[in-house]
Amino acid sequence: MSETLNLFEDLESTDDVRQRIEALRKEIDHHTYLYYVKDAPEISDGAFDSLMRELRELERDHPEYSDPNSPTQRVGGAVGDQFAPVQHERRMYSLDDAMDMGELDAWMDRVIDALGALPEMVCELKIDGSGIALTYENGALVRAATRGDGTTGEDVTANIRAIRDVPLRLRDEGMPGIVRDGSVELRGEVYMPKSSFEALNKAAEANGKPGFANPRNAAAGSLRQKDPTITAGRDLSTFIYAVADEAALAADGQYELLQWLGQAGFHVNPDVERVRTREEVHAFCERAVERRDALPYEIDGVVVKVNSFMRQASMGYTARAPRWAIAFKFPPEERATLLRDITVQVGRTGALTPVAELEPVRVAGSVVARATLHNEDEVQRKDVRIGDTVIVRKAGDVIPEVLGAVESLRPADAVPWSMPKTCPSCGSPVIREEGEVAYRCISIDCPAQAAERLVHWASRGAMDIDGMGDEIVGRLLESGRVADVADYYTLDEEELSLLDMGRVKQDGTPVRLGKTVAAKLVAQIDASRTRGFARALFGIGIRHVGKTMAEAIARAYPSIEQLMAADEEALAAIEGVGPKIAHSIYVFLRTPDNVAVIERLQKHGVVLAAEATDAADELPQTLAGLTFVLTGALVQSGMTRDEAGAALKARGAKVSGSVSKKTSYVVAGEAAGSKYDKAVSLGVPVLDEAQLLRILETGEIE
Ligand code: NAD
Repeated sequence: MSETLNLFEDLESTDDVRQRIEALRKEIDHHTYLYYVKDAPEISDGAFDSLMRELRELERDHPEYSDPNSPTQRVGGAVGDQFAPVQHERRMYSLDDAMDMGELDAWMDRVIDALGALPEMVCELKIDGSGIALTYENGALVRAATRGDGTTGEDVTANIRAIRDVPLRLRDEGMPGIVRDGSVELRGEVYMPKSSFEALNKAAEANGKPGFANPRNAAAGSLRQKDPTITAGRDLSTFIYAVADEAALAADGQYELLQWLGQAGFHVNPDVERVRTREEVHAFCERAVERRDALPYEIDGVVVKVNSFMRQASMGYTARAPRWAIAFKFPPEERATLLRDITVQVGRTGALTPVAELEPVRVAGSVVARATLHNEDEVQRKDVRIGDTVIVRKAGDVIPEVLGAVESLRPADAVPWSMPKTCPSCGSPVIREEGEVAYRCISIDCPAQAAERLVHWASRGAMDIDGMGDEIVGRLLESGRVADVADYYTLDEEELSLLDMGRVKQDGTPVRLGKTVAAKLVAQIDASRTRGFARALFGIGIRHVGKTMAEAIARAYPSIEQLMAADEEALAAIEGVGPKIAHSIYVFLRTPDNVAVIERLQKHGVVLAAEATDAADELPQTLAGLTFVLTGALVQSGMTRDEAGAALKARGAKVSGSVSKKTSYVVAGEAAGSKYDKAVSLGVPVLDEAQLLRILETGEIE
């Protein structure tokens, strides 16, 4: 899949292409200014890079619109007028980037094309700082400049002198390495350690001042202070890794240069490796991804360079970057992409949820094609419109989110979105109750809701009919054989095995569910008849009644008959219920269609009563008043957390899903996560599985 927007297909005329190119250039120039001159970016680097890539691809495919002033042809930032301009001895370049291993391999292919074989390469960390050039004459620092636009930088000598790890004089050991009239221009990165960045922003916040967006902008901003004493107070450091003119030094390649820099007294990043194969390059990049968070400074990737200076020279440069090096960039957590459509999903309770249908993009290592937009208010607040370029964020395992639209790239025909007036599944009118954000379809016959309800009844926490998922439920609904949850209990093995799966085999005959799966499903359906009242109550899908609440209700009213006889006031008195939920339960149990389903469930042998607990069998309630939270896997006993929770409850304990100060104990199994950390931070005692098993056996806490 392309890493970029791939909008070309959508751009119908060449006029559209030209307009898009112009809009992108303008937008990129605006963000470049904010980033380099103001040190105050408004969008993330990931989002910025997506725009840049789209522009680059459009220009590649439409060379008729090329322009030397395009941001794709230039290096980085503008030169401000606060400092004296400095002409660089040689141009300071940027780097081309590779967004994944495939692009890294493509760069290595280009290297092979140019040099005949893969040469020795050097892998370095890509320090997320601000580029600088340091000039030494006869061993003494005489000038320091920012990268600026690559040709002209800003004279920041006084400020660089304030950075403690920049040698004002080269060490004697370095001197013999300089072979050309004692003068050398060295290059590297000024950066701010993560901890210093946090402290700086905290102090700014305390003084009511705006902080910096990230350590890189903090470093650039601190370096470009009028008053060098401010720079001195900012805890900046450097890593030096390049020389402007290789002929100035007696080094043959990048690796040797780094050795020399170390001898001459510079701070050189120790994470450097000489490699020869693709596998070694990949491995270095993978290790860097893993170690990134543990490093005390920010890196945004890995730079791979051809080692030999001679080979570098034979490969040369493009307008903005060397061909002999590539920056492998870490997967960004934010990307820009196209919002192709907004569709509406109908949930089990009839709630209508707008969903962003996106041009697929890789964000934080996985492909994102859809993201919930939650509700109409949210769509309006974010003002995203179909056809917009939107910023999508996904951090780690977190659910992807649409942050908002890039307004300046909005096409003229983008229309604001609003919730349809009728349900996209059944066509019934939708309503929005007072005080609610969601629109709902309240039709009992809505097929989308029916599917969600059937899947929910079969889900693990409810009746646990293993194997009854979206696909089979969809086919059962389609066949007309199942319309509500009671119909599950009328299915027999024979007819299930013949269920048409909606696909055909190579010989044109329909694919059927088959005997094995049918037998398993029927056994599961059978077993679900006696899962107990609380699970059925949760499974039947009364609005606002979750699992824990269903358990509380079943404790108060242990059978459906008793529950149906309770009035709203009595229901509201159940622990955790309250008037709103009581109303929802009351109405549900008095809706004729629902009553009919309940009666049919009972007729087909589904037990809608708590398991009769013989008073003599009841366990002593030794754990009454204690609240437990379970986390991690219980590997010794093989119990699920639900089972362990039920066993604790049988002794009178409460089981909660989240840790708070009120939690009495957290039981931590294998691979326990954030709940464990929270317990430790709140000082809640933590039990291991062995201790849990003893408690269940004896009923006592040791
Ligand atoms: P770059 O930072 O991606 O890469 C080039 C630079 O990497 C070099 O100039 C050098 O200074 C640095 N570097 C760090 N370690 C290095 C090493 N070991 N060897 C060689 N070089 C090393 O490119 P760029 O042109 O400086 O800037 C583009 C970056 O700035 C992108 O990440 C972009 O997202 C960001 N940016 C963001 C915004 C925004 O609005 N968020 C705006 C403009 C630019």
